[in-house]
Amino acid sequence: MNLEFTQEELDFQKSIRAWMRENVPEALERVSALGNMPTKSQQQQWERCLGKQGWLALTWPEQYGGPGWTATQRYIFDIERAMAGAPPTSPFGVAMVGPVIYTFGSPEQKERWLPGITSGETLWCQGYSEPNAGSDLASLKTRAERKQDHYLVNGQKIWTTQAHWADMMFCLVRTDPEAKKQQGISFLLIDMKTPGIEIRPIYSIDGHHHLNEVYFTDVEVPLENLVGQEGMGWTIAKFLLTHERTTIAGVADSYYALARMKQAIEDVPYYTDKPSARRRMAELEVELMALEYTNFRTVAATDEGKPFGPESSGLKIKGTELQQKMSQAMVEIGGLMSLAWDSPSVVGNESFNNAPRRYNFLRACTIYGGSNEIQKNVLAKMLLGL
Ligand SMILES: Cc1cc2nc3c(=O)[nH]c(=O)nc-3n(C[C@H](O)[C@H](O)[C@H](O)COP(=O)(O)OP(=O)(O)OC[C@H]3O[C@@H](n4cnc5c(N)ncnc54)[C@H](O)[C@@H]3O)c2cc1C
Repeated sequence: MNLEFTQEELDFQKSIRAWMRENVPEALERVSALGNMPTKSQQQQWERCLGKQGWLALTWPEQYGGPGWTATQRYIFDIERAMAGAPPTSPFGVAMVGPVIYTFGSPEQKERWLPGITSGETLWCQGYSEPNAGSDLASLKTRAERKQDHYLVNGQKIWTTQAHWADMMFCLVRTDPEAKKQQGISFLLIDMKTPGIEIRPIYSIDGHHHLNEVYFTDVEVPLENLVGQEGMGWTIAKFLLTHERTTIAGVADSYYALARMKQAIEDVPYYTDKPSARRRMAELEVELMALEYTNFRTVAATDEGKPFGPESSGLKIKGTELQQKMSQAMVEIGGLMSLAWDSPSVVGNESFNNAPRRYNFLRACTIYGGSNEIQKNVLAKMLLGL
């Protein structure tokens, strides 16, 4: 693997950097600098802006709206995006349901749903988890009964990120309660405005509302919203999860977090123990570089046409552990400055203000996308043959 950028790649990097400088809204940069999360309108405005450039669905084949970039170009873009203070793209449309639709969907489904994803117009959420069906996803019970021209959906989903923002949900439902657990599941696309859907907020430990419970009572979903065949949901679910896990490694955003941490330390004139803070940051940087090279290998393999495999589980484990370590370091290095949870004013250095909020949110990253214990089971089985 050649790790030097070519002259064309350096030119590409320069042009992306200049574009980001012109196009990332100042308000969005500030949100990132404070370690906050964008609002729905900030996020969607940014995604529409990328969509206009054809830069939203970076990994997709060109025929469906991808930019036709190499893995290296995508990597350069992601680093430049993060370092410019722009948020990552919401994964549900671009990284999850999009690849499902262009791989398993009918021509009509591709025509109907893909343009809304590549333009950033349609927001999606993921209806997989249920009470008693998280790690053991195949135990899901939400029922979809086939009627004449629609499915009648009844049941409950939980931990549904951004359900209150979303126009559409991709949802695993049980279409055959008699079949073996995995075989009776199907993959449906559900319009969130359909009567019978109720969304209830769950407030998480970081004080925000990202999560929801979603209840379905006699919700009618047209038959044409079934992706693939009835009973094929489990195959599709597994395909989608490997896509989900690679995006969770979050290398570019960890570089941004590290840069903020370094800046924070340098900005505080009375900070006494800079040498030990710098040593800690160097250790984190080394770990991040190691993760980055593993990420390179996986992403480069996909350029050669190889599908994502179980190594996406390894990326998920290491990436999320590192995100947690970095947020912990930010809180500990900030010390008293990081206790400014509710302070509206800047304390010490503004980057420390939201350190505990971010720290608390990231406790969940080893759980979402399939818990890290489950990823270790996948590696044990698929890579080590245990
Ligand atoms: C912030 C956040 C956002 C989320 N967003 C979404 C979303 O948008 N859509 C969605 O569908 N879901 C979402 N989830 C749900 C997430 O995918 C589940 O929480 C996760 O799969 C774990 O399931 P569970 O919570 O039911 O825990 P459980 O499955 O009950 O697990 C509890 C503990 O037991 C361990 N465990 C369970 N089984 C095994 C085993 N066989 N071997 C070893 N250890 C095991 C787990 O690792 C975990 O530590 C989100 C979760 C969080 C926290």
